[in-house]
Order: sequence, then C-alpha cells, then structure tokens
Amino acid sequence: MARTDAIVLGAGVVGTSAALHLAKRGLAVALVDRRGPGEETSYGNAGVIESNTLFPHAFPSGFGALLRIALKRAPEANYHLSFLPKIAPWLLAYRANTRGEASFAFAEEMRPLYARALSEHETLLTEAGAMRYLRKDGWLKLYRGDASFAATARERDYAEQLGLDHRVLDGEQARSLEPSLAPVFRHAVHWTGAASVSNPLAVTKVYAEQFAKHGGVTLKGDARTLHRSGANWRVDTEQGPIDAKEAVVALGPWAPDLLGPLGVKLPLAFKRGYHRHFRPVGNAGLTRPVVDTEYGYCLAPMEQGIRLTTGAEFADRDAPPTPVQLERLMPSARALFPLGEGIEAQPWLGSRPCFADSRPVIGRAPGQPGLWLDYGHAHWGLTLGPVSGRLLAEMMTGATPFCDPAPYSAERFGP
Ligand SMILES: Cc1cc2nc3c(=O)[nH]c(=O)nc-3n(C[C@H](O)[C@H](O)[C@H](O)COP(=O)(O)OP(=O)(O)OC[C@H]3O[C@@H](n4cnc5c(N)ncnc54)[C@H](O)[C@@H]3O)c2cc1C
Repeated sequence: MARTDAIVLGAGVVGTSAALHLAKRGLAVALVDRRGPGEETSYGNAGVIESNTLFPHAFPSGFGALLRIALKRAPEANYHLSFLPKIAPWLLAYRANTRGEASFAFAEEMRPLYARALSEHETLLTEAGAMRYLRKDGWLKLYRGDASFAATARERDYAEQLGLDHRVLDGEQARSLEPSLAPVFRHAVHWTGAASVSNPLAVTKVYAEQFAKHGGVTLKGDARTLHRSGANWRVDTEQGPIDAKEAVVALGPWAPDLLGPLGVKLPLAFKRGYHRHFRPVGNAGLTRPVVDTEYGYCLAPMEQGIRLTTGAEFADRDAPPTPVQLERLMPSARALFPLGEGIEAQPWLGSRPCFADSRPVIGRAPGQPGLWLDYGHAHWGLTLGPVSGRLLAEMMTGATPFCDPAPYSAERFGP
C-alpha cells in the first residue's frame, strides 16, 4: 500500500463496515485483525437486524425473576459469583438506564441509528450482489403468559406513536406464520419492519470483499501494537508496520485491551452469550427468528441449521465457558420447536460489548488526536454496524453527519 490514510483495528461487522464506508469515500484504508473478517462476535449472533429497537434490554424485574437468577435457575441469565463484586456498579447503572424516563431517552437518542440500520445493510448487500442473505419478513416475539405480554404495552404504544410496524397475534395466528411452533404460547408480536440474515459471518465477509473492491487492504496483526510514530499511528502487521494519520478502534469486546494502556478508560462490560446449531426434526423449519421471551432465547434459521442463542451471562470475558443456560432452557426450547440433534459438540461463546447506557461509542477518543472509536454495540452490533460505519466515516472525512453524533461520544462518561 503506497499510502494509508486510516487504519481500522478489528474486522468484525462494525470495523469492516467502517472500513468499507471510509474506502467508499476515497480513503486508503488498512483493516487489521488477528483473525479473518467476522469470525468473532459477529459470527455467532442471532442474525436479527432489529431496526425497531426502542428500549434497552430490560433489567430483570420482579422478585420471582431475580430470585431465579440469584439461585442460578434462570434460563435467561447467569453469572459467575466471583465476578459480581466487579460488575455490581455497572449493573446498578445499567438498571437505572433501563427504567422509566431513561429508557425513553435511550429510544430518542438511538432512533436515528436504528431507523437507518436496515437500509444501510440493504445498500451494502445490494452493491455486493448479496441480497440472498437478507430476509425481510421480520421477527416474532412469543409470550407464553398473559402477564409477560401485557408488560409489552408501553413498548407497543410507543411503537404505534412512531409508526413502527408490528402486528399483535394470538397463538394460532402466529402458528400460521410458523407452523412448526407448538402451541405452548398465548400471544406473539410480529415486528414486520425487522429483518434477519441467514449467515452473519458470510455477510461480514461480503462487506470485506466489497472493501477490497474499493481498494481496501485487509492485514493480519495484533492491534495492541498500535503506538505513536511521529505524527502518525503505527501498527505492526504480518506484512510489516503500517502508518496512518488516523486509526479506528473497532475491537468490540477487546477494545479495552488496546485503549486501557493508552489511558482511554471507558466503562465497558460484557454480556456473554452462547449458541448452538440443531438440525430440525423431519420437515420442521422456521422462516424467521423467533424469541421465546420468558426463557430469553432465540431460535434463528441459519444456513448452518437452527441456531439457538442464549441471553446474558455476567462473567469475565476470558473465563472458561459455562453454558448452563443452554441446559436450563433446552426442555422449553424442545417443547416449542422440534429440535433434533445438535450439530457441534461444544456451544459457541461470544461477548456482547456493552456500556451501561446501552449506547455505542462512535467518535473521537478523548485525549488521543487521530484516534477514533466505534465499539460497544451490545445486543445490536450486527444491526448497527453499517449505520455506525457511515456516521463515523462522515465524521472522519469532515462531511455533515446524517445525525447528531453527541449521544454516542466518549465524553458522555466524563473526563
Ligand atoms: C448470542 C448473541 C446473539 C446476538 N444476536 C444479535 C442479533 O440478532 N442482532 C444484532 O444486531 N446483534 C446481535 N448480537 C450482538 C452482535 O453480535 C455484536 O454486537 C457485534 O457482533 C459486535 O461486533 P464488533 O465488530 O464490535 O465485534 P467483533 O465481531 O467481536 O469484532 C472484533 C474484532 O476484533 C478482533 N480483535 C480483537 N482483539 C484483537 C487484537 N488484539 N488484534 C487484532 N484483532 C483483534 C477480533 O478478532 C474481532 O474480529 C448478538 C451477540 C451475541 C453474543
């Protein structure tokens, strides 16, 4: 590469999208990862492009739910006891951000990103000739009990006000959309404006191929070697050192490994999650992702099989896997859908990178000229990767950003 304008560190869906947007704007970009594009968190998700997101993921409420979690019987959440003292302040802040007015503030601040999330994917997939991965038939949230469904009223009312398409269905109506589901639930909401992809890994790889077509170069290297070299940033790669005036940190859950030593200490936590693929029994199938809300898991039809993804586990990012949630929820999942044999011997484990206000950081790194941040997309990084890449590229190239980037700035955490 004769000249490099920007180094993007991390080739998950977030970094690859940012690199692609920068390359489309004429910058010479090097995308650096220690693995291939999309092979970490961006591989293992449920594939939902949820442009309807209004509120942050709810903090469990009600004595019953909290007790089940405390007793380690809950399928929707798990924790490592030794990790709780470390995460307690973050959990309290997270809880405050999911309540009342704070959740409406989140909805307002994040709407510009969510509202554009699907069209940004569509543009990139169309340009790449890869629309075959996109299913525009929404996703289905199931409610086994009346109370859990009634608790969605606030969200549905708000969605109504904003004109976000959704249909309230009874069990039979939902089963006419997805006939392989058993009648173990009473209500469903079909979020018709959402979409999903049949292979999240392939989608990131397609974006990386598009990046190459725009002149971008993907290199193997350890992002933690990033350091100042005169007026530039330098990173060591297998192909030698690369220098550029600007660098973007898009390392998802690994961002603190690089940023901490540079003195950029932002309060990122991890919600670990597991998945496993299953063959459906006989002719059973799903046409769209389905969430069993009471048990907190999703069944998503993928090219690899039916992917079952779990809710959150609070544990050190690098602690050994403890997929107890999968064991706890399998009886309910098998009662809902005829899951046959598991495809892999061991479940996949990934970490959702989350700030306590559930917003990502997109913008400049405080105190480090030329360093940019694009990470912390939590539960919706696949959804938000391309739109975040657009916003970041607009900011980095001095174009008018399509929305006010202030809610995503690192400065919101204070000096
Ligand atoms: C179970 C589960 C289900 C999910 N379901 C959905 C969903 O349905 N829809 C949705 O929108 N989101 C979903 N998510 C969230 C989504 O997957 C993440 O928010 C998103 O993948 C984060 O992307 P990223 O690019 O920031 O991180 P990553 O994909 O993890 O990318 C970070 C990259 O940095 C690289 N890296 C790390 N350290 C270094 C280093 N030292 N040197 C070089 N490279 C390094 C890694 O190799 C990796 O490629 C889910 C997550 C989980 C865990």
